[in-house]
Amino acid sequence: MKPISEALAAMLPTFTPCGRERVQLQRAHGRVLAQDALARQDQPPFTNSAMDGYAVRAADLAGASPASPKTLPLAGESRAGEAAPPALEAGQTLRIFTGAPLPEGADAVVMQEDTSREGDAVSFHLAPAPDAHVRKRGEDLRAGAPILGPGTILGPGEIGLLASQGHAALTVYRRPRVAILSTGDELRDISDPPRPGSIVNSNAYALAAQVEEAGGEPWILPIVPDVLEEVVAQVRAGLSADVLVTIGGVSVGDYDLVRKAFDAVGVEPQFWKVAMKPGKPLSFGVFGERLVVGLPGNPVSAMVTFEVFVRPGIRRMLGDPAPYRASAEVALAAAHTHKTGRTELARARLVRDERGQLIAHLHARQGSGNLTSVSGANALVILPPDEASFAEGERLRALLLGDPRGSALSPF
Ligand code: AMP
Ligand code: MG
Repeated sequence: MKPISEALAAMLPTFTPCGRERVQLQRAHGRVLAQDALARQDQPPFTNSAMDGYAVRAADLAGASPASPKTLPLAGESRAGEAAPPALEAGQTLRIFTGAPLPEGADAVVMQEDTSREGDAVSFHLAPAPDAHVRKRGEDLRAGAPILGPGTILGPGEIGLLASQGHAALTVYRRPRVAILSTGDELRDISDPPRPGSIVNSNAYALAAQVEEAGGEPWILPIVPDVLEEVVAQVRAGLSADVLVTIGGVSVGDYDLVRKAFDAVGVEPQFWKVAMKPGKPLSFGVFGERLVVGLPGNPVSAMVTFEVFVRPGIRRMLGDPAPYRASAEVALAAAHTHKTGRTELARARLVRDERGQLIAHLHARQGSGNLTSVSGANALVILPPDEASFAEGERLRALLLGDPRGSALSPF
């Protein structure tokens, strides 16, 4: 049996970015940039006011204070969305609004609140420093400066920045198409009536959600019974995707036909027994550029092996330079024992205590068929293979599944 680290190290390098495509900026959220993006113009594009107030030459107001205000005549107005007004003469002021261009000659803005006005005479109650409340052309970015590079994940902030620089379309890595093939005589579709001994193909739904969450495009194939020719036919169909994930039929039972089907279609096998729990057998193979992963059928095993082996592969195909989940040190909420020999990935809910420490509440039923243990789990706590018992408060590492949960209490 290989440790998880070895199986991952052998498998992940075969997952490489699947190519690039051009997408409109509105469609780019969550995608990974595959190009350099440069600033197309200075940002701000022109020197402008950060406040509603009056544009002045700072030197004209030297010594102004509430006790001895200085008064200047009003020479006009500058509004957002209009070209800069004529240059400001010495000894004059100009009404100006937030975002409006600063005229030549002016070097400061005095907030409306620090002035008083009678007709066209404006009195200033302070002496502004040069550049006060002025946003200078190019202070954020200079035209031609690199702003974002390949490997950047495009979140709302990045999208706003790209929009401000006029990038209406971008080259991103293509999303891998991931085929999901469920095998088993007992499986029925969610909308089919129950028959004796049948269970719903729940894994296809769970894995499709995992593929989507990882950034791939799921494609659910029809369920196949445990009949070799039918498994072979759907494996062939699934090989038109970038990755084919099969579920079930990879252990040593009489009806475990998936590896036989891989052989029949010419998938080059790289099978491993991985020393992990849940999910011991993992069947991995390559077929030209296509990757084939056979996951165990037990619902929790399928989800956990997907999480550990397939998710980082999908992230790599998407061009993400940081494909692994973040992990954190957690403290066990209660003592726990497990069977030694395999690394166990225990489903848990993490809660932060008053001191900010993450406390892991392991689900009471850790069996590989207990789907209740994955619903509501926000972490997989790593129980090392050589330790049998873990004390309350013991510190362990955990994979963080998605963002920490939100709070019912407003932070404000
Ligand atoms: P297998 O790996 O095919 O031996 O399946 C192991 C267990 O997982 C059996 O109890 C199956 O009924 C169950 N199982 C297999 N495939 C699925 C599936 N797609 N959805 C839900 N349960 C499944
Ligand atoms: Mg089966």
